[in-house]
Amino acid sequence: MKGLGLAGAGLSAAAAAAPVFHDLDEVIAHPLAKVNHPWWVKERDLKDPTCELDFSTMKRYSQTLHMFDPNAFKRAVDSAEWDRMLHSNFALFGMNMVKNMNEGRPGFALRDVTLASAAGFGHDIYGMKGNFVAPRLVMRPEDYGVPRWQGTPEENTRMLRAALRVYGGRDMGVVPLDQDTRKLVYHVEEDYIPYEFEDVPKGYETHPDPNPPPFENYDPNSPETDYCNMKYKRVIPTSKQMYIVSWNSQESPEMHKQGNVHIGATSYTLAYADGRIEINRLQQFIEGIGYEALGEPHWNDLCHSSGTGVMAGIAETSRMSLTNISPRFGSGTRTWKLITDLPLAPTHPIDAGIFKFCHTCKICADACPSGAVSKESEPSWDIVAPNNSPGCKNYYYNGVKCLTWWNDGGQACFICNAVCPFLEKGKAHIHSLIKGTVAITPIFNGFFANMEKAFGFDYRHQAYDVDYEQPSVDWWELDLPEKGWDSSRSVKDY
Ligand code: SF4
Ligand code: SF4
Repeated sequence: MKGLGLAGAGLSAAAAAAPVFHDLDEVIAHPLAKVNHPWWVKERDLKDPTCELDFSTMKRYSQTLHMFDPNAFKRAVDSAEWDRMLHSNFALFGMNMVKNMNEGRPGFALRDVTLASAAGFGHDIYGMKGNFVAPRLVMRPEDYGVPRWQGTPEENTRMLRAALRVYGGRDMGVVPLDQDTRKLVYHVEEDYIPYEFEDVPKGYETHPDPNPPPFENYDPNSPETDYCNMKYKRVIPTSKQMYIVSWNSQESPEMHKQGNVHIGATSYTLAYADGRIEINRLQQFIEGIGYEALGEPHWNDLCHSSGTGVMAGIAETSRMSLTNISPRFGSGTRTWKLITDLPLAPTHPIDAGIFKFCHTCKICADACPSGAVSKESEPSWDIVAPNNSPGCKNYYYNGVKCLTWWNDGGQACFICNAVCPFLEKGKAHIHSLIKGTVAITPIFNGFFANMEKAFGFDYRHQAYDVDYEQPSVDWWELDLPEKGWDSSRSVKDY
């Protein structure tokens, strides 16, 4: 396209036709304030994503089932393996990381490891906690003596999206809470405090300190898998319509492509830190205009991240399971959530042909060094590991195998994410044409997957050498744009 000069012509035409906004009211009233999906993305009915759901068997997930929970990991491995893991889900990880650094392994240089560590400044492990109930930080309508903001659900949705963009978020969708979609809300949080629904006017929590409370009556040797600390609770009101707001943060494909090393990990560490700030800002914005906003108290909290993004229509589910896949940003995103009573317009699940493509692709499954990603051709209702939860016809992934691989490698792996064809740039590349075709017909999926294996995957698979021997390029010489993002991938540039 660039060679034909069409990109430049298109840009000029777009610039000439670009609307001029004078204030926020004009922005949210204008139809262009609504983020449109690329033309090849179809909207589906509400609560009907491309992976089949069975709300009757679906359970609310508990963070205490996730392998990042040390007790969940301990329950999932035998005693000999637990001994080898040094009685922690991450102790071996740290030991192997230091060993690799001291042995001078590529990707484990001091500057690489420190780049990732420092990128986390802003998220939970550095002390910036989130809040379920918003602390009173910004002025509220009553402080000014003005009524709270009033807008139609559509105006409010565009308003939130505009605010979120300013705060750093990308695509944003809305899922109204009902008996089915409540199952997106976690049952038990990572600090073992349960979420409950009550007929109360406002949300509240009985443990306002965001640091995990001391857990009582907990027996780590119990066969139960769904522990919760019943002494405390976080409550979501049912007395009014509540909405989950779900959005994503962009990650850097160029950094992901560095592979299974700390520079690659920097990209999502940065996204986690950015997400924490975005949640806090959006929560304060909503409270500041006079509505309630219940946020993620820690990270990856409150609601199922991937599932909420799928239901909100900002992504489709995928074979690799670790992340959902955005039509615009591929596997290079993180998903964030909050719950509000600000009236919003629901957004629809999407069909961009992504999940269907996963049926034949399997690139991530072939690349996964631990065998954690399903190689089945068809998705299944059957769960395969203790970290799974039923109710979705999906490719369930084995978190035990995955985290064991992380420990043995001494770094956070994301090979599955990095090799996914949807991480490729959408611009100045045949990939935009392929995405459009994939969305319309699955006939060429096998051909496109094989093409990716021949011209993309094999090259990148070597680049992401699972033995960490061969980082693809000298990242420090790339001179990337801010945050390492692909800055050519703007919101209206598919
Ligand atoms: S992160 Fe690595 S080990 Fe885990 S599923 Fe992905 S490729 Fe496999
Ligand atoms: S690599 Fe292929 S199978 Fe795996 S998530 Fe991406 S598109 Fe789906």
